[in-house]
Amino acid sequence: MSVMPPSAAPPGAQVPPHGPRRWLGLIVVVALVSGGVGYAVHDRERDARARPVPSVTVSAQPTQGTRPPSKTAAAVAARRLAVDTFLLRRAKAVRTVDERLFLQDLDPANVKLRQEQKILFANLVELGLDEIGYSQAEERFDQVAVKEHGSSTYLVRVLMRYQIHQVDLTPVTTELGYTFVQRAGRWILVDDTDLDDDLGPGAHQEVWDLGRFEVHRAPRVLVVVEKGDTRRGRAIVTEAREALVQVTTYWPRKWRGSVLIAALDEAEIRDARFADEDIESAASAGSTFSSLPGEDTADGTVAGAYIVINPKERDRIDEILLSHEVTHVATADLGGYEPLWLAEGAAEYVSWRGIEAISGPGDVAEWEQEVIDEALPLLQALPSDLGFYSNNADVYGVSWLAVRFLVQRLGLTAVAELYEDLARHGTDQAARDRILLTRTGFTEATLWIYLKEYEPQR
Ligand SMILES: [Zn+2]
Repeated sequence: MSVMPPSAAPPGAQVPPHGPRRWLGLIVVVALVSGGVGYAVHDRERDARARPVPSVTVSAQPTQGTRPPSKTAAAVAARRLAVDTFLLRRAKAVRTVDERLFLQDLDPANVKLRQEQKILFANLVELGLDEIGYSQAEERFDQVAVKEHGSSTYLVRVLMRYQIHQVDLTPVTTELGYTFVQRAGRWILVDDTDLDDDLGPGAHQEVWDLGRFEVHRAPRVLVVVEKGDTRRGRAIVTEAREALVQVTTYWPRKWRGSVLIAALDEAEIRDARFADEDIESAASAGSTFSSLPGEDTADGTVAGAYIVINPKERDRIDEILLSHEVTHVATADLGGYEPLWLAEGAAEYVSWRGIEAISGPGDVAEWEQEVIDEALPLLQALPSDLGFYSNNADVYGVSWLAVRFLVQRLGLTAVAELYEDLARHGTDQAARDRILLTRTGFTEATLWIYLKEYEPQR
């Protein structure tokens, strides 16, 4: 979800295996005080916080393969104007709900593209956008695309800037690639996937790019499910509202944002790749960017995060799972430079406080002892960011324990302030060490030593 620290993942690095992680093995069956209704959380698989890697900053000139044939400056300017006009029309079509306008510059021979663009249009309209605009980034050159579409082929990376009504606190940017050709003096769109492999993680894999969906709204919640999956959509709204209450109750930051939750029949949504995971995660929270990595700065500027649910886990979404993910969303815009042990530990902290409120302290105490007895001895240090999500050890449990320890020593408010400082300023290990030491008196090394001797207050 939030950005990989620059030291760990330089622009253009491979996407880290994000996602999963851990098998909670949690079985909580308790009778609620009122009415004795059973509440069960069975063998939950948990979360992943995907940290997208900054996409590569490309030069203004096409660099792949052979250079395109040189064009006169006038021809280039004319093409630029034609494509700019296309992009303006496209945004206007969404704003004014004009499908005909949206589809008017598509390759008439490409039935599949037309079908997909119809779905895209319907999805964008249904989302409710306060703002939408597209702009050309830079031209890209791809010999394969030229071969397929002909010598006039113009492949361009496009920035889509949008703001979903009552979801995004600021306009955010995502990227895609369009292929145009000139036919009878007119520039038309012939393809929108040629560039997909060369874009940043999750690009052109936004929730609206995938299939026709339906939207369910409540205050501070927007849920996206497959068209017709109405019952599920409503159920997730209910759980999400509970999760928001938990995050508000158990995490001190005054956050008034909203959550978008996508529960679609898709294994690849945004930067989540559920099918590729060794240990499957139930959900992940992936960043939105007010400025993309590589656009103004290498890391970009995180605006918030959207939650996506593993399609296989869609039947098991509850407020406990969501409270973990919502904690990530509620801290996403701080910057994303906090260490993963703190990010995942805090999310687990909130989630377990919720379990405690439902089932009493027994289950939490039992789980805490299990982490101390079984997970802690298997590690030699606090889990590092590198390989966090592919670690077979219970890094979530140990991270949670570290946060419990810090809360016991310093109080929750101080831990939340530590989180905020690290998320904003922990841009490299030296900065992290300095912040941690100043605010807690511990380094990561001494924190680990104390954690080994931690005795929970019961
Ligand atoms: Zn997480």
